[in-house]
Amino acid sequence: MSTIRVALAGAAGRMGQACCAAFAAADDIELVACVDRRVVAGGAQGDAPTFELLTEALEQTPPDVLVDFTAPDAVEANIRTALAAGVDCVVGTTGLSADTLTELGALAPEGTCLFVAPNFAIGAVLLMQFCAQAARYMPDVEIIELHHNQKKDAPSGTALRTAELIAASRAAVGATPQPAPGAESELSGYEGARGALCEGVPVHSVRLPGLVAHQEVIFGGPGQTLTLRHDAPDRASFMPGVLLACRSVGARSGLIIGLENFME
Ligand code: NAP
Repeated sequence: MSTIRVALAGAAGRMGQACCAAFAAADDIELVACVDRRVVAGGAQGDAPTFELLTEALEQTPPDVLVDFTAPDAVEANIRTALAAGVDCVVGTTGLSADTLTELGALAPEGTCLFVAPNFAIGAVLLMQFCAQAARYMPDVEIIELHHNQKKDAPSGTALRTAELIAASRAAVGATPQPAPGAESELSGYEGARGALCEGVPVHSVRLPGLVAHQEVIFGGPGQTLTLRHDAPDRASFMPGVLLACRSVGARSGLIIGLENFME
């Protein structure tokens, strides 16, 4: 079995630390470099050195794959640096626009993959697929996404992706939502009460301590509602997806969005 050499950007963060533990437990993955402004707590990174700059990590301990769980203002530069060096990217950091992802994907040299997962939890991927299915028959829908109070972007990447999939499904079958009161119905001084419109789907973002990552999608139809909900109270939920992506990108090329592309 060949070993996949991984550099981890954002290694000292919440997701980074969970990744360190997951890589340590995986026989076929070797963490060769951590990239962060801080050193990973408690030695969870094993023997992997920490670099402040990705360029230094790529030079000194060249990886096969860069895994990025940093921040919206750091991830783009990391992707550019990694792709220029022919290193496959597995990106979990949210907040990049669809246009930016398309532009970055075009920078991937032949045989190099830029993989981006709005959500690595298998249950969340299934939730998005079920939403796409439901929207064909129940086009009236709103999304409530709930996350911890340190999250740097709103709405969440998962909510935006869910809205995109719902919009594509509705368009594919020509299903149009019934008109509902929008921003025009908000009382003065309470702007935002009806949520943000993403691809025509209202999205409401909740940020509270005690939450990790959760999403509820409510479909409404005459005389009935359908509620689909996913909860990820533990970051361990994302790790099988991260490992699957690290094992899959080597055989792929160009921009790929969504873990469903690697699920059999
Ligand atoms: P976090 O705890 O803030 O961790 C981010 C880490 O990256 C921190 O250690 C931070 O250092 C570091 N960092 C930020 N900018 C940097 C830079 N320019 N250079 C070097 N290090 C830098 O955040 P998190 O909760 O782990 O989440 C990370 C990202 O993953 C977020 O975008 C989040 O939305 C996303 N996420 C995605 C999924 C998914 O399934 N796709 C799941 C959960 C989270 P400082 O603390 O010094 O800023």
